[in-house]
Parts: sequence; structure tokens; C-alpha cells
Amino acid sequence: MNEINRDKALVVFSGGQDSTTCLFWALRRFREVSALTFTYGQKHQIEVEYAERIARENGVKWEQMDVSFISKLGANSLTHPEILMDAEKPVNALPNTFVPGRNLFFISIAAVYAREHGINHLITGVSQTDFSGYPDCRDAFIKSLNVTLNLAMDEQFVIHTPLMWIDKCETWALADEMGVIDYIRTQTLTCYNGISGDGCGHCPACKLRREGLEKYLLQKGASQ
Ligand code: ZN
Repeated sequence: MNEINRDKALVVFSGGQDSTTCLFWALRRFREVSALTFTYGQKHQIEVEYAERIARENGVKWEQMDVSFISKLGANSLTHPEILMDAEKPVNALPNTFVPGRNLFFISIAAVYAREHGINHLITGVSQTDFSGYPDCRDAFIKSLNVTLNLAMDEQFVIHTPLMWIDKCETWALADEMGVIDYIRTQTLTCYNGISGDGCGHCPACKLRREGLEKYLLQKGASQ
């Protein structure tokens, strides 16, 4: 584990596995950690309740930000069901669950918020390894946005992406290293059907999460 950085950090926080892992990652490195949870139309209120509770339990200052305009701006299958009719897309097209501009808005808003609170470290759980084809989860985008935000506000923001180069299995390993694998497994919400912990078991989010966990537990068992 690295040395504690005596600075403040802001986590873009959904209350799911990835951003909760990032929250603990931040708590081990920064003097003061805040979390910002965005709501954008398709989110269940229960997800926000999980995020708030996790933040509170871990002494993290928490705030909710409504950015539901994002879903109105761009067409995606979550807010425009008729798009499902165009399922026959070219192989290389983006998934229709892609919310255009989401991470651009989230991280930009987080940066403005951070600036107002004297914070220059921003943390997001995006991963190029498990990026599902979303361009705004890729390292090049994050690095480009970091430069843009610094130029836009004449600041020295540092965007941290602890999960950028690791997959779900390795994300569970990171949680275990930090001693929080049981907490993340039982207290976070990743499921599209709003069921916490191991979730409904069959939605895409649950499948990705469970397959990563099973792979990790198998590896761990084999190494013991
Ligand atoms: Zn599920």
C-alpha cells in the first residue's frame, strides 16, 4: 500500500462494486475523502440510498447531484426504449446502453465541485479492461479530459483511475487486499434489478460481477 497523501480527494461514486473499491482505495491514500453521486434518469433511488449509506458508514462526506438532463440530451436504450427496435447494428457499433457524454459530464462536474471545495484529486472507477465498448471509459479519454479540465479552470487536477487496467476478478483481488471484500460483496449494489450483494444473479451487471468473483475465489483457493 502506498503512503498516505495528505490531500483531499473526491470519488465519483455510484455505490456499486467498482466505485466502492475506489472509495476504499482513496481512504487509504488521502487525508479527507468526499463522494459525489450522480443521478441521471434511469437510476433507481435505491442505488442512491446505498451510496449514501456506504459513504456515511465510512466517514465520507457525501453529496448527490442531479444530472438527469444527460438522458434527455442523448438517445440510449435506457431512456428511449424504441431504440431497441434497431437492434441490428453493425458489429462495431456502440452498445445501446451507452449514455453519450456521461463520464464527460460526471467528471467535469466533479472537477468544478472539487475546485469549489479545495480538492484536486479526482477518482473514478472506469476501466479500459472491462469497458464494454464505452469510449468514455478509456485511458486516452481520461488523460485528455484531465488536460482539458486543467486548462479550463487553470487548476492542477489529477484524475486517478485505480481500475483502469484491471478486470473484475482483479478488482475483487484489490478489495481483498484492502480487507473489504466481504463489505463490498454484501453492502454494495451493482444489479440492474436493484438487488444488493450478490444481486439477482442473471442481469448483465450481476453476471460480470459474479464471474469475476468466482474466478477470484477459485484462484485464491488454488493458491492456498
Ligand atoms: Zn442483477
